[in-house]
Amino acid sequence: MTVELIAVGTELLLGNIVNTNAAYLAQQCADLGLSCYYQTVVGDNEGRLMQTLQTALSRSDIVILSGGLGPTQDDLTKEVAARVMGKELQMDAHSRKRLQEYFTRRKIEMTDNNWKQAMVPVGAIVLDNENGTAPGIIMESDDKRVILLPGPPGELVPMFESVVRPYLSRMEPGVIYSQTVKLCGIGESKAETMVADLIAGQDNPTIAPYAKPGEVHLRITARAPGEKEAKKMIKPVVKELKNRFGMNVYTTDTEVTLEQAVVNLLLANHLTVTTAESCTGGLLSAMLTSVPGVSEVFKSGQVTYSNKAKHKLLGVKKPSLDKYGAVSENVAKQMAKGAALSTKADVAVAVTGIAGPDGGSAHKPVGLVYIACSVRGKVKVKEYNFSGNRRKVRENSVTAALTLMRQCILEYYSETTFR
Ligand code: ATP
Ligand code: MG
Repeated sequence: MTVELIAVGTELLLGNIVNTNAAYLAQQCADLGLSCYYQTVVGDNEGRLMQTLQTALSRSDIVILSGGLGPTQDDLTKEVAARVMGKELQMDAHSRKRLQEYFTRRKIEMTDNNWKQAMVPVGAIVLDNENGTAPGIIMESDDKRVILLPGPPGELVPMFESVVRPYLSRMEPGVIYSQTVKLCGIGESKAETMVADLIAGQDNPTIAPYAKPGEVHLRITARAPGEKEAKKMIKPVVKELKNRFGMNVYTTDTEVTLEQAVVNLLLANHLTVTTAESCTGGLLSAMLTSVPGVSEVFKSGQVTYSNKAKHKLLGVKKPSLDKYGAVSENVAKQMAKGAALSTKADVAVAVTGIAGPDGGSAHKPVGLVYIACSVRGKVKVKEYNFSGNRRKVRENSVTAALTLMRQCILEYYSETTFR
């Protein structure tokens, strides 16, 4: 089955808001095994919206529209969609009652135009909006489905999850099951190239890559008569991906995050950890401490922003700071060693870099970051050249630090066990 997305709103066309609904809905549809070949953005204009919907219905089985369900004059999605589907609008008693209750509960006076939101096309399925006033609507004809969802993501997402997703998953027989293989320490384009042959020949199950800062997620989705069969179909694909990506796979569990995987590794090996951060200013320790149960292994972390702090708190040698500069391999190493020494932690990780926008030079550009990790005295340091703004450089540094920690711990143990 094919699905097509239409986002309605002049604000979207003007670039005032980002079309996150399209990204969300497209991912959900891919997850459900529905093929999506077109997405459109159209303003709050009757003629153009009508034309857009007619075109969409001429080439797709299901059309999902978002936005323009509100009470005001420019909200005309429902009126246009009903006309295209040949349905009259009528007052829906259930929605009217809900609407009234919504306003009473909030002690807000209703205006006349609010009632418009309780008007629904004859024969439509009405989707209650638990987070706002405009109900969602599903219209069905012999071979087409039109689904109208409210624009605000805080209303659209819960409505999709609670009713639209189950509705769409019933459209094709069987169940849909997904599993995610998560990679770190490998770039998106390299990862994609390494699975290009699998993606090209895919049908069921499908593989979809998603990039996160410093990570690549490969989502495998299978449609089968039951969950057991779907899992059976996914298993050989996961095995193949593990073969291809080896150490870069940090989990095959959809729920596990990189920071969680690193904390699990620390816990499993009874390793305590400490951080010494410069350009990330505590983001790394915040990330680690977001994992429940981390208190078993994380004792303390330091933010050593100035040279003086690096020297005083971590014992970085003054001549090294003068000679190599704070952002250098040498200083990163000394920071990790110093942190390990002062805290007696088994693992110490240090981050020093230039997050920008200022502070860069031809020799040391913005985005240059050194990360050092020491595991029981064995230190490894790496240079990174991140692109993007200050926020991105800092985010990427945290992911890279987690990735390096994981790598160093794994190497430490494989060497001691295999030597
Ligand atoms: P309302 O009842 O709030 O008027 P609506 O269903 O009429 O909702 P719109 O008026 O089109 O929706 O948009 C309301 C708000 O929802 C926008 O200002 C924006 O914040 C958000 N929004 C709308 N469409 C999108 C979209 N495609 N992606 C992300 N956010 C959106
Ligand atoms: Mg509106």
